[in-house]
Amino acid sequence: MVLKPASNKRWRLAGPACSAVVLTCALSAAAGEKALPPPEETEVWQPVPPKVDAPANGVPSDATVLFAGTDTDAWERVDASEKPDPGKTEGGRPIRWKVVDGALVVTPGSGDIRTREVFGDVQLHLEFRTLAQPKGEGQGASNSGVFLMERYELQVLDSYRNTTYVNGQAASVYKQYPPLVNASRPPGEWQSYDVLFLAPRFAADGSVLAPARMTVLHNGVLVQHDVALRGPTVYQGQPRYEAHAAQLPLRLQDHGDQVAFRNIWVRAIARPVTK
Ligand code: MG
Repeated sequence: MVLKPASNKRWRLAGPACSAVVLTCALSAAAGEKALPPPEETEVWQPVPPKVDAPANGVPSDATVLFAGTDTDAWERVDASEKPDPGKTEGGRPIRWKVVDGALVVTPGSGDIRTREVFGDVQLHLEFRTLAQPKGEGQGASNSGVFLMERYELQVLDSYRNTTYVNGQAASVYKQYPPLVNASRPPGEWQSYDVLFLAPRFAADGSVLAPARMTVLHNGVLVQHDVALRGPTVYQGQPRYEAHAAQLPLRLQDHGDQVAFRNIWVRAIARPVTK
């Protein structure tokens, strides 16, 4: 076999088809190098990844469904005066948001809602719809939010043709990271967020071992890529971590606008054990 330059200036093989491995071996042997170890040496067979059914446009079989169109039992109301507290998920105060045509719609003034179950590292999917007839502008245009662990806000806003500070527009990690691009759809259309969230890790003395990290697809478009959060979301001042539980509820924000949500599910991420 010989190598010849192809028309696109890259080298190609002349003669019979040959795999990259065979080519590498041939070149190594020609150079008098030691033979490579057998390929089996780098094959891993255990543990076998768990099987998950992943139907097209459906919910993965290992997901926890948080809202599928009717049942709101996964959620409880959060009093506006109440500070996030990992010990308060029992009690189950019924939410005052409404289910309308299969969507969970914010009832302005009724307060945030949060899951009764707690989560740490997750893959999250949800869909949201801003108001078809925008009634505000800036931060007042269909504002809501997805708070991972009740602390870290992925902003929900009508940002189709609505100007605001960029680290507060839709798909921003609020006041920390603007989205890479603006993938917003027009007002009144359903949109999706797919989120990979890694919870922060704290040492026994409360210091931060690893910050929270977030990757987000907005309508299938990458808008946040593995950003390291600087701390919990704050409206004023700089964020600062305070140690908290490894798992906490997911929270949705009542910001006074009738934003709708649907098809909300979450999967725990099993992180590989590091040595
Ligand atoms: Mg918000």
